[in-house]
Amino acid sequence: MSSGAPRGQGQVIRLPRGASLSDFADKINANPGSLVQEMFNLGEMVTATQSCSDDTLNLLGEHLGFEVSIVSPEDEDRELLAQFNIDLDAEVASERLVTRPPVVTVMGHVDHGKTKLLDAIRKANVVEGEAGGITQHIGAYQVHVPHDGVDRALTVIDTPGHEAFTAMRARGAQVTDIVVLVVAADDGVMPQTIEALNHAKAADVPIVVAVNKIDKPDANPDKVRQQLTEYGLVAEEYGGDTMFVNVAAKPGIGIEELLEAVLLTADASLELTAPIDGPAQGVAIEAHLDKGRGAVATVLVQKGTLRAGDSIVAGGAHGRVRAMLDENGKQVAEAGPARPVMVLGLTAVPGAGDTFLAAEDDRTVRQIAEQRQARRRAASFANSHRRPSLETIMEQLKEGEKTSLNLVLKGDGSGSVEALEDALFKLDIPEEVQLRIIHRGVGAITESDVMLASASSEAVTIIGFNVRASNKVREIADREGVEIRYYTVIYQAIEEIDAALKGLLKPEYEEVELGSAEIRDVFRSSKIGNIAGCIVRSGVIRRNAKARLLRDGAVVADNVAISSLKRFKDDATEVREGFECGLTLSNYNNLQVGDIIETFEMREKPRA
Ligand code: GDP
Repeated sequence: MSSGAPRGQGQVIRLPRGASLSDFADKINANPGSLVQEMFNLGEMVTATQSCSDDTLNLLGEHLGFEVSIVSPEDEDRELLAQFNIDLDAEVASERLVTRPPVVTVMGHVDHGKTKLLDAIRKANVVEGEAGGITQHIGAYQVHVPHDGVDRALTVIDTPGHEAFTAMRARGAQVTDIVVLVVAADDGVMPQTIEALNHAKAADVPIVVAVNKIDKPDANPDKVRQQLTEYGLVAEEYGGDTMFVNVAAKPGIGIEELLEAVLLTADASLELTAPIDGPAQGVAIEAHLDKGRGAVATVLVQKGTLRAGDSIVAGGAHGRVRAMLDENGKQVAEAGPARPVMVLGLTAVPGAGDTFLAAEDDRTVRQIAEQRQARRRAASFANSHRRPSLETIMEQLKEGEKTSLNLVLKGDGSGSVEALEDALFKLDIPEEVQLRIIHRGVGAITESDVMLASASSEAVTIIGFNVRASNKVREIADREGVEIRYYTVIYQAIEEIDAALKGLLKPEYEEVELGSAEIRDVFRSSKIGNIAGCIVRSGVIRRNAKARLLRDGAVVADNVAISSLKRFKDDATEVREGFECGLTLSNYNNLQVGDIIETFEMREKPRA
């Protein structure tokens, strides 16, 4: 049963999370193939380059006598920082602990009023009473509410939806203390309500339910309470411990009560303190490239205090804080725990959810940023080899491997998404393949779709039906090695997926121009029809090549071919630029002086 893999004697080997058998083989100087064999002996079919679960890596380690220690990306980063004597988890006993505001994220089903609620909360900033309220959308804002006679602050993440939340979680950053789950009282619990709820539960974040749109005549707030009990959220008035607050975001009813409930929930279940001294640490919430100002990032300070002039590193970006602005567009000199600020001065744009920290000097932050960039490149390289696409699924099928096709379906309307899904499940699916729709939704392909696909242990293909991904999302998909395919016709999507399922994905062809020739003279032959006397203007003219005929720039004959080709009296297989030739076209006789003949061939296109 031995297949040549070395046996360890309890040596510890360190592997990054999601490592493949090839990575494992590298560490123990073995041949990856032998590890595939070992896994097979253990009853698991794993390819050499496939990303393995922790369990698989541990199992193999145990079998071969190695102790596997799996290093998460966060741990890896921690080790990197340790090289610079930075310890994110250092005890802060000597430092001042302050109570910090809770950080709130608003989530819920589309159209249930998340955006309106964020607007309403912004306007409810009663204490500060800024004229006109908060005007800048910087990705997060802070509001003040009187609570038990005390002025209390709340930090609100200003991006509705699950995207920010999942993106940050996927990077291991936990920003949110409390989730406000918005449910429209006239619509009740919907798919994304459940999705949001599951995200919050997975992150172990307490939930306050905002039952919205109670101003509507058909609102039924009690039904929402009823429905959510099924998902383990039981309202206080029903003997549970979740606070439900009836609100109407549009006319601004119940907003203060909602914020009170958030504070009460925070006080009851969370320990909200943070050190205010020391260099700042936190998370980038949002970032973009601004024409005039360069890289602009909104960061949320979680520990310590950030000051203008500090050297900071956020993900793979670094720089010196040139200026900090708050949500009112005002310059601030320093930002303490739970304070969101917009930072100017970074050299690049960090990703949402990237952690940031201030360090001693420019050199340190630059080195940290560079090492992180190098690591990301390596990881994305590994990923691009690792995540199978529709084609590799087809290859696996050919090789007889059992496989599954996992899809995320996004479309322009719920009707089209349902139609696509229905049609997919009606397909005659080969026994060795499993088709799974892991997520479906309406609207553009978002970062959270890509994150969902990339967080999955198996390959996931995202199907966009009449919807696209923004450049930024596409970039992330590339980085994470997630395949996105676009369709505008349902049957075409079905056909390709069907083909992939059956291992028959047809190659795509593209036209490649070979050459062009101009007709200088036309000779009539009773035997073979009209012969064009030409000069080759570009490229080559090849016998049997596909051709089209252009007259005054318009196509007058398409789908023809060069049926005979001569140099003087001799048959030729090809004639190059600058030379004269005589040729005939298959099935086309109406040749005129001055016509242009273009030839091309169809080449198989490497699939994107
Ligand atoms: P989101 O998709 O969850 O961000 O939802 P929006 O905030 O964009 O709201 C969706 C629609 O519901 C908009 O037309 C809002 O005007 C409307 N809406 C939101 N809150 C209320 C409310 O409290 N009462 C009423 N009547 N309409 C509301």
